[in-house]
Amino acid sequence: MKIAILSGKGGTGKTTLSVNLFSSLNKVTLIDADVEEPNSHLFLKGNTYHEEDINKQYPVVDHDLCTLCGKCGEFCNFNAIIPAKKKVLVFDDLCHDCGGCKLVCPTNAISYTDKAIGKIFYQSVGDNKQFLYGRLTVGEVSGVRIIEYLKNVTKKEEVLLIDSPPGTSCSTVAAIEGSDYCIIAAEPTPFGLSDMRMVVELLREQKLDFGVVVNKSNLGNDDIYKYLEEEGIELLENIDFREEFAKIIARGELLVDHSEYVRNIMNSIIKKVLGETYA
Ligand code: SF4
Ligand code: SF4
Repeated sequence: MKIAILSGKGGTGKTTLSVNLFSSLNKVTLIDADVEEPNSHLFLKGNTYHEEDINKQYPVVDHDLCTLCGKCGEFCNFNAIIPAKKKVLVFDDLCHDCGGCKLVCPTNAISYTDKAIGKIFYQSVGDNKQFLYGRLTVGEVSGVRIIEYLKNVTKKEEVLLIDSPPGTSCSTVAAIEGSDYCIIAAEPTPFGLSDMRMVVELLREQKLDFGVVVNKSNLGNDDIYKYLEEEGIELLENIDFREEFAKIIARGELLVDHSEYVRNIMNSIIKKVLGETYA
């Protein structure tokens, strides 16, 4: 079963939820697909046993064959290839590796070459658990290829948690695609509600089942609960804010290692999402 954990914006407790659910399960794999800012590894402190470069391809133009017809530039949605007056300019950082410019080039002037855009780290955590995270190289514009790679190498796992990028970008879509269930981490504030609405729209468009965990539930107001009720969205759990929790998180430690209250909440979420046998 694949379970994605996501949020409308960063800082709503998505990673806290992911790593504490991971630690509450016996046999599970977690991937941190938030490749622009991965931070689950700071809490899990696993042993890295393997690292892999992830490459993308970008176009190289043979200027002897190029007639400066402009078709590659017209095709590219990302301004990554621009026919200028005297030669075609390629901005490899902006290239999304779609392969289209080569297809439209009438003189076969375009070929592709490889470039590393990031890395994947494989870690073991305890005896039964595996954790993988990706890191996009600074300056690269899209982590989709890294996320797809992370998902591909873990596709046969029985229980897979996916700590997804926040928001509703292409990276988020790549992370949640094919999930059996999604958990939205949200906060009961006006901004928290408006960011969550966008995620709800995305999940409905993608026809994915989902529920919500309200973090810092003793702060803010009731609007989020009214919204969940009106929309018929499952409220999985509430997690109160406590000052001691903020301190534990700041030390890079797991809440479940310190709080029975949080352990019970994680077990309740696991029962609701995965069933009694996993709790
Ligand atoms: S491969 Fe796609 S994204 Fe990259 S330069 Fe060509 S058309 Fe643009
Ligand atoms: S499509 Fe091919 S021939 Fe035309 S400008 Fe681009 S590289 Fe040159």
